[in-house]
Amino acid sequence: MKFLQDLTYEKLSEMAAQAGLPAYRAAQLFGWAARGASYAQMSNVPQKVKEFFIAAGYLDTPVRIIKKITSALDGTVKLLYALQDGNVIEGVLMKYKYGNTLCVSTQVGCRMNCAFCASGLDGLVRNLQAGEILGQIIAVNGEFGENTVHNVVLMGSGEPLDNYENTADFLRNVSDPRGLNISKRSISLSTCGLCDKIKRLCDEGFSPTLTISLHAPNDELRKTIMPIAQRYGVKELISAAQHYFNVTKRRVIFEYSLIDGLNDTPECARELARLVRGFPTHVNLIALNSVKERGLSGSSAAKVDKFKKMLEEERVSVTLRRSMGADIEGACGQLRRKFVKGAEEQ
Ligand code: SAH
Repeated sequence: MKFLQDLTYEKLSEMAAQAGLPAYRAAQLFGWAARGASYAQMSNVPQKVKEFFIAAGYLDTPVRIIKKITSALDGTVKLLYALQDGNVIEGVLMKYKYGNTLCVSTQVGCRMNCAFCASGLDGLVRNLQAGEILGQIIAVNGEFGENTVHNVVLMGSGEPLDNYENTADFLRNVSDPRGLNISKRSISLSTCGLCDKIKRLCDEGFSPTLTISLHAPNDELRKTIMPIAQRYGVKELISAAQHYFNVTKRRVIFEYSLIDGLNDTPECARELARLVRGFPTHVNLIALNSVKERGLSGSSAAKVDKFKKMLEEERVSVTLRRSMGADIEGACGQLRRKFVKGAEEQ
């Protein structure tokens, strides 16, 4: 399947030029597509232009919201979306004082299989197309009002750098002033650490805030919870992060989910501090959200606090992420899984 929102402005312009259409038609279509208009709603676009793209197989609506669950605790909205092929993905809309953040998925499922994460339990189903990644933002703006989404984090299901080309086109489109025009500074990309792709991303001129899911300060421990650690060592990962900083001049963020009795010891805190101190970085701590099938639990509030204090004493910039939507299956992949399993059991 193909969507108008898969097309970067550049590609859309090329197609328009080949069809003998004036350049402004490409800008019009690009703008409409970013606002989620159906072909019928594109009022200033002539029928023959629409027919050209329809004949070329481009659909206008990549993603539909099928379920919304609002947290009574903090107003966080958990969303389920249907794709045109019947697959289901999930997302979260978080409301902060400084604006709304949408957590977006990049794959159906995930093949990274981290030991604590629900998204990888059934492996990778398929990559999302660029238009399906952008389509999640468009669907939320359609549902809650234009410009609802101020910040975007690629932290939903999937590994964005394992779907590099589509993620790159998404990054091009989401920041395009002719479209959603969300600033690069308002976009974060979270990765379990595909070092070559981290380098490629900045070398190709992209500069979203890079968030690396570290979760362990050494290879031995990291290998027990993240299979990707077999491929890339912690040292290589830190050096890729440093390269990203050198090229983009943007501080790199390390995610560290505290798992009870596993990576929350004082030794881990000290080792982590040594690792991240060489260039501008920030550590985001969160107590693991327990995923039933995974059999791991989050560290206690007291342990989390102690871990944070130790990092502060080592002069590491660190924050504790609030766990949002704890009452609505906030953790990655949990809701989709419940939905898909529920449907299978019926
Ligand atoms: N594949 C990317 C993005 C998706 S996961 C990545 O690995 O970064 C988004 C973040 O949530 C990652 O830091 C991931 O490690 C973390 N995460 C996954 N399951 C979690 C859980 N049950 N509790 C806390 N954090 C979790």
